[in-house]
Amino acid sequence: MKGAFPVEKFKDVRTPFYYYDTKVLRETLNTVNKEAAKYEKFSVHYAVKANANHKVLSIIRESGLGADCVSGGEIRAAVKAGIPANKIVFAGVGKADWEINLGLEYGIFCFNVESIPELEIINELAGVQGKVANVAFRINPNVGAHTHANITTGLAENKFGISMGDMDKVIDVALTMSNIKFVGLHFHIGSQILDMSDFVALCNRVNELQEKLFARQIIVEHINVGGGLGIDYKHPNRQSIPDFAAYFATYAQHLKLRPRQTVHFELGRAIVGQCGSLISRVLYVKQGTNKQFAVLDAGMTDLIRPALYQAFHKIENISSEEPVEAYDVVGPICESSDVFGKAIDLNKVKRGDLIALRSAGAYGEIMASTYNCRELPQGYTSEEFI
Ligand SMILES: *Cc1c(COP(=O)(O)O)cnc(C)c1O
Repeated sequence: MKGAFPVEKFKDVRTPFYYYDTKVLRETLNTVNKEAAKYEKFSVHYAVKANANHKVLSIIRESGLGADCVSGGEIRAAVKAGIPANKIVFAGVGKADWEINLGLEYGIFCFNVESIPELEIINELAGVQGKVANVAFRINPNVGAHTHANITTGLAENKFGISMGDMDKVIDVALTMSNIKFVGLHFHIGSQILDMSDFVALCNRVNELQEKLFARQIIVEHINVGGGLGIDYKHPNRQSIPDFAAYFATYAQHLKLRPRQTVHFELGRAIVGQCGSLISRVLYVKQGTNKQFAVLDAGMTDLIRPALYQAFHKIENISSEEPVEAYDVVGPICESSDVFGKAIDLNKVKRGDLIALRSAGAYGEIMASTYNCRELPQGYTSEEFI
């Protein structure tokens, strides 16, 4: 055992693989539930796109959270894990007809709609099924977030949502449709947000829009503020559970709710990020010019975040206690961006050592690809190694 890893039990396991520490996951879920329960109008959905591993989803279902899905496949994964359809919301800028039909057949809680053409199709398909679809409009609040440019979503330039200027028009259209029930407003400004002032800015914007609606005597049932709470990638042990208390308190303090309105959160990364690690074996230690490389059997096909948006993952040699040396930690894929970290201090590395890439529970396994004809990594929970 080194740190929290049962290293001896990894000996015969094929690498690379994802390892999910269910103790961390359950503690995180308990904290989310405890902190959200302080505010009776708050309810939390899990954003399935962060990690749809069936074992992980099943544990999340046990905690009672709903699901935020962005595809028909995710709706299926959520239902398969036992999440009730009336706790599923369906978001996404490009929903295909079959996906809308699937949501209607299951009778999901709400469609988060991003355009008038999409609204028209949902109305038409709901009509064919003789149903009324609950819809919320995803409004682009033009609020920036202090995060990587590739993961901001709430700026006017982003493809997501309906512009604030078009909100009234879209609502007018919805109110004329017989197979649509307008129930809420939806927002999501981005991901890996640690500066609470970004969420305050969103609250202020939501308050303004609510004033506009109120002037038209419209009060929606739900305000969905999306997800985006970040995690501490630098210190996965020191802060394994994100500060949900501060997060929910920010919304409680700044969002002006009307009577009977509920607030929905859609958290992905903050729920599953810290429980997961990618475990890999060192294939070779290679001497370069003025540096040495630790060449792993895991690459960007298993964990693409560093290559995709220069994301940082803490890297540990969990097989060695020897003095630290600096390595460029790289994968085997034929791409120069297949690098997990440069000049990383690791306990001296030798062939066969196990390397953990920490905080990889969100947007890790789910983003894996078979590029270079590689096999997808397996995912195991800590309970499978007891
Ligand atoms: C991705 C996404 C989320 C979850 O984002 P996290 O940063 O993982 O919390 C929530 N809502 C929507 C609409 C999303 O697209």
